[in-house]
Parts: sequence; C-alpha cells; structure tokens
Amino acid sequence: MANPLYDTFFGRHQGKETPFLELVDGATINHKAYLELAAQYAHVLTHLGVQPGERIAVQIAKSPQALAIYAACVQAGIVFLPLNTAYTADEVSYFVQNSGARVILCDGRRYDALTPIAQTTGAVLETMNSDGSGSFASRAEGMPTTFETVARSEDDLAAFLYTSGTTGRSKGAMLTQGNLLSNSKVLTSEWAFTSKDVLLHALPIFHTHGLFVATNISLFAGCKMVFMPKFDLDVVLDRMPTATVMMGVPTFYTRLLEDPRFTKNVAQNMRLFISGSAPLLAETHVQFEKRTGHRILERYGMTETNMNTSNPYAGERRAGTVGFPLPGVELKITDSKTGATLPQGEIGQIEVRGPNVFKGYWQMPEKTAEELRENGFFITGDLGQIDQDGYLHIVGRNKDLIISGGYNIYPKEIELLLDREAGVLESAVIGVPHPDFGETVVGILVAEPGAEPDLDAIKQNISASLARFKHPQKLIVLPELPRNTMGKVQKKALRAQFQDLFA
Ligand code: ATP
Ligand code: MG
Repeated sequence: MANPLYDTFFGRHQGKETPFLELVDGATINHKAYLELAAQYAHVLTHLGVQPGERIAVQIAKSPQALAIYAACVQAGIVFLPLNTAYTADEVSYFVQNSGARVILCDGRRYDALTPIAQTTGAVLETMNSDGSGSFASRAEGMPTTFETVARSEDDLAAFLYTSGTTGRSKGAMLTQGNLLSNSKVLTSEWAFTSKDVLLHALPIFHTHGLFVATNISLFAGCKMVFMPKFDLDVVLDRMPTATVMMGVPTFYTRLLEDPRFTKNVAQNMRLFISGSAPLLAETHVQFEKRTGHRILERYGMTETNMNTSNPYAGERRAGTVGFPLPGVELKITDSKTGATLPQGEIGQIEVRGPNVFKGYWQMPEKTAEELRENGFFITGDLGQIDQDGYLHIVGRNKDLIISGGYNIYPKEIELLLDREAGVLESAVIGVPHPDFGETVVGILVAEPGAEPDLDAIKQNISASLARFKHPQKLIVLPELPRNTMGKVQKKALRAQFQDLFA
C-alpha cells in the first residue's frame, strides 16, 4: 500500500548499499543499514502501542539512530515530534501535554527528570543515548529488519514541529506528507542536487533546517551526508575538502571566516554554501566571496512552511535578500491592517500560499485562524519588501516593529546603518517602553574584536540619514547578542533586559 513520503524518501533506497551517512569517526552507514534499523524501530514503536496518527516526542542527541527514528515514524504512519535538546523538563512537559505524545524518547541522563511528566500524561518513557544505546535500542535488538509500511496519503500528518519560540510560546505546526514532499522536490531541483553530492550536515535535526531541508533533500537526491553531532569548526574544516554542499545558519559562516585555516583551497570541491534560519549580514556575504570565491545562497523559510524563497542557483545571488518565491509558492506583501496587497517596493507583511504550507497549529484553532487565511495564505509574521528586480528583502518581524509616537519604525533600517559604522560588528535595534512616545528606539551594538566604538560619533553619523523619530535614544554595547541554537537573535530577551531604561 502506498505511503508517498516513505516510498519517495526511504523505500526506493531499500536494500541499496549506497552511502547515506558518513560519521565523524570515518564509519559509513549505507541506505540499507539505515532502513533496516528504522524498520526495527518501527516494530518497537508498534509494540509500545503507538498507533498511526499518534505522536512521539523525541528529545535526544543527534545521531544516526536518532535520524532512524524519523524514518521509523514515517514507515509506521506515526507523527514525528522532535524537540530541541536544550529544553528543560518544564518545557518538555508543555510539548508532551500539548501534543498528547504517546511515547517520550529521551537521553538516559534525563530519565529521572522526565519521569513525572510520563506519569502525569500516561506517556511511555524510553531512553536513547547519544551513542544510540538505551532502553529503546534494547527493545529493537532481534526485531525483524523489514516492516510492512503503513498506508498513508499526502494529506496525512507526518510531523509536528514546534516553532522556535522567538516571538512567543512555541506552536506545534502540523505538517503533512505532501508539505514535506513538495518542498524537497522543488529544492532538490532548484539547488541542483544529485546523488553525487556530499552534504556537510552540522545542523541540529530537531529543527526544519537540519531535518527537513537538509535530510529530506539528501534522501530525495540519494546523496551522502557527512553527519556531525554538532558544528565543530575543526571537523568542518577537516571534512570540507571531501564535500560539495554545506547548509548552515549565519553563525556557521561567521565562525568559518574568523578562522584563518578556512581558505579557498579548503573549499575547492564545494559547489554551494546555503544559509538560512536567521538573516545573513551582507558583510558576511562579501567577506565570504572574497575568501572563497563563493557567493553564499541565502533562502527563507520557517517551521510552518518549510522553504518559501531562495536566491537563484544560476542567477545573481544578492546579499541582504532572500531571493525569489520558489516554484509553486505564491508570495505577496500585504497591509497588516487591511490585508490588501501593497504595491511593489512597499513594506508589509509577507504572506505565502502553496503545497508547502502547513495544516494549522495543533489544538490552537484561534491562532490558526489568525494566521492562516481561509484562502490558504499564511501570514508569516515577517515584514518584507520586494525590490524592482523581484528579490525579497526581509525587514524584520512584525512583533519587532517599533511604534514610537505613532510612527512605524523598522529595526532593520537602523541596524543596517549601525552595522556600517566603525568598530561595529553587528547590532540589534529594539523598542523599549517610553513615557512620552509609547516606545522608543534603543540600539544594541557588538564591537569588532579589540574595537571601542565611539557611541557619540555613531549616533551623529546615523542620525544624519534618519528621520528624527527613528533616532536611537540610547546605544548600548554588549559583548554579544543573545542567540538561540539556530543563531536567531532573541529580541524578546533584549526587550526584557532593557524595559526599564526610560521608566
Ligand atoms: P516563533 O514562530 O515561535 O516565534 P520562529 O519564527 O523563530 O519562532 P522558526 O520557524 O524556527 O521559528 O523560524 C522562522 C523564522 O526565521 C522566519 O519567520 C524568519 O523570521 C526567520 N528566518 C528564516 N530564514 C531567514 C532569513 N534567511 N533571513 C531572515 N530571517 C529568516
Ligand atoms: Mg515563527
């Protein structure tokens, strides 16, 4: 019986001894071995009583075994729900309660901390450690290495991915088989992946970037991944000469550039560097090209939609933009009050529609109704602008928009100016409460190594190009910006830290 996602990504590799995962210790796991392990895991899940359509919550280290859980879920028709390994027991409790997960799979070291959650919710608690060992592996021993694939349709749910929680509480995005399939097909072709590619995989697999973009494309193209437990500069530099593609968050690229060992020579076999999940500084783009001759390809997506836009593989990759809508994805810029489409060049909310767009937020009908229009357009929560050549520029998030004295202020406009100032490495502009203006602008700066930016001079310089209401009332230097594991600046945390500045 058919299971489109399993058949397309996994089933067609069955029995093939083609390389799939190359590990840091040099060992290789081929497709056959990977799928046999997944089949054993599918048996375990079924024995544990998980039915098709039910969820399992997985909070374990990145490993080939962890990735086999994904395949096992797809084969057994179970909804895969990976969780950030940094989440505390309290946070995991929310995800398990909210999703109604039947099984929680955790690292052995967290067994005691998560036991109360399993008891309250009635979920089965099993362990899988970073080396793949644990109670789950013990159960899998001796299980058959084939499993009868459970029939599914493109409309059935494949995964719940919770959003990163950058702007508020994480929401469970319901993704169907069809969502994942359509996006991987488009990306594989847009980025010219073939079975000959070798992808450097240093991203986590609990987030859409490392899980769906990187892994699904590799499965669809039939190529190999150099599968690293995490981003480790030494390992990445060591393996790059044997690889052809890398996907990363902007911090991967800034860290590579900080290392003099990263040379054109190291990247000689690479055909493509892709960046996403957070804005790539135009400066990084420029420095990267100077060092390697490669222009980083920046794309834009999110948990709810997978990828929406991408800079072109063949055409001009424009720094500071996220390119064009992918084939099959409709994108428009709308007025946040009226929902009307805005003329080209104006800033508004980014809305997208296509086969990649999720089904809604799990058990949040009101939130779903607010953000997913009946006509299928999803209101992304990001603000953007399309330039005269059709490239999309992301201006920031709707929730980071500063309203001062009734005027809208887009942080990005000020950040771009600040970043250009002498001694400034990067910046984040936030709105903080102000007794007269409601909110006012504060600029947070990070200095270049060894530099001491002259704040008065910077204020003066940037004020010359900004209307008065946009002038930062205060500039503050911090050693670094707070970021999550995906490199996203946590403006919510910055606003909380500086909320009393003008109180
Ligand atoms: P939450 O929705 O819970 O607040 P989140 O939006 O950060 O969290 P994700 O789905 O992981 O959760 O991230 C998607 C967001 O990441 C996008 O909406 C966008 O703001 C940002 N993003 C992704 N790619 C880019 C990019 N290339 N440039 C700028 N921003 C990007
Ligand atoms: Mg979001």
